[in-house]
Amino acid sequence: MPTQRGLRAIAFTLAALTALAAAPARASEDIDWGAIGDEAVELLRQYLRINTTNPPGNEIVAAEFFAGLLAAEGIDAEVFESFPGRGNLVARLEGDGSRGGHIVLLNHMDVVPVSDEFWSVDPYGAEVVGGQIYGRGVTDMKADGVVQLMALLALRRAGVELGRDVVFMATAAEETGGVEGAGYIARRRPDLLAGVEYVLTEGGGGVRRGNREVHDIEFTQKTPLWLRLVAQGPAGHGSRAIEDSAANRLVRALDRVRTYRPPLQLVPPVAASIRAAARLEPDPTLRAAARRIEETFTQPEVLNVLSARMENMLRSTIAITMIEGSTKTNVISPRATAELDCRLLPGVDADLFIATLRDVIDDPGIEIETILRFDTSESPRDTALWRAIEEAVRRRDPDGVVIPSVLAGFTDSHYFRERGIVAYGWSSIVMAADDGPAHGVDERLTLEAVRQAPRLLYEVLELLAARRQ
Ligand SMILES: [Zn+2]
Repeated sequence: MPTQRGLRAIAFTLAALTALAAAPARASEDIDWGAIGDEAVELLRQYLRINTTNPPGNEIVAAEFFAGLLAAEGIDAEVFESFPGRGNLVARLEGDGSRGGHIVLLNHMDVVPVSDEFWSVDPYGAEVVGGQIYGRGVTDMKADGVVQLMALLALRRAGVELGRDVVFMATAAEETGGVEGAGYIARRRPDLLAGVEYVLTEGGGGVRRGNREVHDIEFTQKTPLWLRLVAQGPAGHGSRAIEDSAANRLVRALDRVRTYRPPLQLVPPVAASIRAAARLEPDPTLRAAARRIEETFTQPEVLNVLSARMENMLRSTIAITMIEGSTKTNVISPRATAELDCRLLPGVDADLFIATLRDVIDDPGIEIETILRFDTSESPRDTALWRAIEEAVRRRDPDGVVIPSVLAGFTDSHYFRERGIVAYGWSSIVMAADDGPAHGVDERLTLEAVRQAPRLLYEVLELLAARRQ
């Protein structure tokens, strides 16, 4: 039986709890962002030490790491494997829907392999040198995973009432195409995409240029078209050359492919990106030309500058990557193959592209097989999420600029765009000039960039998802 003092204490606690429940959410300025930043750095160090090199990925260990952190905050996470070891995780803060559909913070947990002998530090040691943290995947995209987690936890801790669900989704296998991760979710777990309006993931982000922040938001990508050229011919002994052998035909075909260059062209998303970036151009003549790029594109002086700066955004490209023939020096193989990594500008028709290649090769004996292709998918820019990013960036830096961008590579965004979900490549991490390189040697990221990033993402989410009073 409680004493009088005990009763008063219980009453006081109840009153405090009631006050807490009714208290308005803390504004961003009231949150201790220094502490959140330190926490982000500490978690990132732990996360980098979990080896999720793909293959084999083994992302289940990273998924369990996130699940443990979420559980400690009272947030349930669903962890599931697409294949043994290929872990994925989904956790959500629920909203009442008054602001719209869900926003997914999407990050992949796998990283690409390393060539240890070239690294100056242990790629899985999370060492800090000169204000930068080193580790495989730190820029692609483990720091983003931690920043997304911290923004979600900050919303939770601040008691922000949400008008839409904020979902944390950590996936496997992005580096090898996402089939066991985002692709698996799209195909096998459509329940997790029901009601989703927005996805934020890698592909864009901030950099400092002069004294202003410039943020790229990626809204469409070049599309991969991976092809295999197959040549057939008579087999034989290497002591007697065969003019029409599979290898000879393949080499002829590859030489034609090598010397062919797809035409320069200005596609609308790239034009939009150039126009938006015009204000950053110091040269007044070029700045004026960039503002009217559709008209000025074919002027030689404009074309020269653009080609030097961003040729891969002005044409589809073809890279010859794999070549296979006989497995023995003295055997002429009846079959020889080569693989081409073609990247098509948004809107370029893959069937037409293949037909053009057939003409270029001009040999009916060469078969062209398709290994991988996606259709172009583009997200609209006139959205509440876009405006929230713009506003949050400008709050932080009144001179800050947001630019729509087109990515030369590809990410998991297409799985969502194909389903009509608005997906943007944008990270709140503002990278320094020598941060990176993604997939490269001594991959690193400025610690201060990691510390600062949760707040910017939090403010975007607050603008987009907080319930209106
Ligand atoms: Zn990535």
